[in-house]
Amino acid sequence: MAEPIKSILVVGGGTAGWMAAAALNKALGPHATVTLIESDDIGIVGVGEATVPPIRDFNTLIQLDDAEFMRETRATLKLAIEFVDWGQKGERYLHPFGTFGPGATLGDFHQSWLTLRQRGMGQEIDAYSICAQASRLGRVGMREADPRSPLSGLFSAYHFDAGLYARYLRKVCEGRGVRREEGEIVSVNQRSRDGFVTGVTLKDGRTLDADLFIDCTGFRGLLIEGALKTGYEDWSHWLPMNRALAVPCEKAGPLIPYTRATAREAGWQWRIGLQHRTGNGYVYCSDFIDDATAADTLMANLDGAPLGQPRPLKFVTGRRKAYWNRNVVAMGLSSGFIEPLESTSIHLVQSAIYKLLQHFPDTSFSPANIASYNRRLGREVEQIRDFVILHYHLTRRDDTPFWRHAAGMAIPDSLAERVEAFRDRGLLFQVGADEYFSMGSWLAVMLGQGLMPAAANPLHGLQNPASLAGGFDRIAGVIRQTAERLPGHEAFLKAQNMWGADA
Ligand SMILES: Cc1cc2nc3c(=O)[nH]c(=O)nc-3n(C[C@H](O)[C@H](O)[C@H](O)COP(=O)(O)OP(=O)(O)OC[C@H]3O[C@@H](n4cnc5c(N)ncnc54)[C@H](O)[C@@H]3O)c2cc1C
Repeated sequence: MAEPIKSILVVGGGTAGWMAAAALNKALGPHATVTLIESDDIGIVGVGEATVPPIRDFNTLIQLDDAEFMRETRATLKLAIEFVDWGQKGERYLHPFGTFGPGATLGDFHQSWLTLRQRGMGQEIDAYSICAQASRLGRVGMREADPRSPLSGLFSAYHFDAGLYARYLRKVCEGRGVRREEGEIVSVNQRSRDGFVTGVTLKDGRTLDADLFIDCTGFRGLLIEGALKTGYEDWSHWLPMNRALAVPCEKAGPLIPYTRATAREAGWQWRIGLQHRTGNGYVYCSDFIDDATAADTLMANLDGAPLGQPRPLKFVTGRRKAYWNRNVVAMGLSSGFIEPLESTSIHLVQSAIYKLLQHFPDTSFSPANIASYNRRLGREVEQIRDFVILHYHLTRRDDTPFWRHAAGMAIPDSLAERVEAFRDRGLLFQVGADEYFSMGSWLAVMLGQGLMPAAANPLHGLQNPASLAGGFDRIAGVIRQTAERLPGHEAFLKAQNMWGADA
């Protein structure tokens, strides 16, 4: 007979593990025990420092105090990603959060904008985004709920210190009754009749049993792969990055409220400004550059003194063939990795948690329920994958072997359909409710990479161009003035009590 789940073992204490433990503890309260096991000797990846706006919902779900969270993790605000040298060397564009134009949705705004641009009227698309305008001015603020306010579009996420985030979540979780065990798992115990996991055994001989296991063991995938042999779908033919070097440096200059992603010879470099330091990393493909040259490139392109040596990371882009197998749900890097270009990994941990709560099992572990979870999460991951590939596919760079390779790579049919629809007449669409990236995001990156549609929807050409242009100028004016009235980044964080004591 099916029984309720009474015990959950979260295996791994990186960002994924502590997020899962916090949410499951909140959702289940006294009805199930949540235990987390981690190994101090193995440590965490700890370089996930940029996020996307839905993380605010997650922090609300687990009832974090926003100001305390920001102080504890030395967080700053992120309104956009700036892409430098991606379309062509010397070009730069912003992929801002939120939308373009008035109101919370893009609607037909971009089609009217296209008709104007074809007549040589209107301004660059950034002029109609509050996040883009505020980013350029180095300003931040609070989003307003009223859809008539230009500030309703001021969506923001965080940059934070991933090591401090895991530490902070641990403190919160332990205060709420999550049990933490330290130790290295040396074997995973399975039921002989069906392979379900019954427990894990630690180096010191202890065994921890549970009904449900959340595998957050990072790239190792100790349960989902090591024990269950679920299999991995390799996406390196679409996403060729396989190495990263990460190094923090001293802060320099004023805090900017966006991540910067600068294209380099064989990949790209991130720059993430935190309260107390700047995070940097070079993500590259080892077929096109050796590790020493990549390290030299990174170190030569820091805007402050380095705070250590570059830390190497290796990965294979792709995903687990099933995210949930038997009584094991993989979250975080154990479930797959797309590469950090659009900062979506932590978001996918959040999505996996939400979907697990929607599909929460009992001890029967209904196969239909598990299949639904895998399908829905799978669709979301595929859309994110396509969106990241888009940045490489639309490059016009041909100055290095890597960029020539990127421009010539085959792309998934699902992405080809979107690119063609936009190229032809600026059509943007969303396929399903599980998609993360909005039409505004697709618009920003396709235009930013230099793809201008051949034509617009002719219905929009029926409007009077002069009055249309006047309306667009008024919108841009209001957005600009609103951004100019916002406070500077550091001043805002200090005024809101979000600034850490020793930052
Ligand atoms: C280069 C790079 C840049 C990234 N940038 C971003 C970004 O900007 N934004 C973003 O959202 N994401 C980013 N990510 C992804 C992000 O870092 C991860 O999604 C996030 O840190 C979650 O990692 P994790 O918890 O899955 O794994 P890990 O941090 O690797 O944690 C694994 C845990 O498992 C434990 N463990 C493993 N084996 C055992 C064992 N045998 N016994 C006991 N415990 C064990 C370890 O001790 C550790 O606690 C980036 C990733 C990389 C590689």
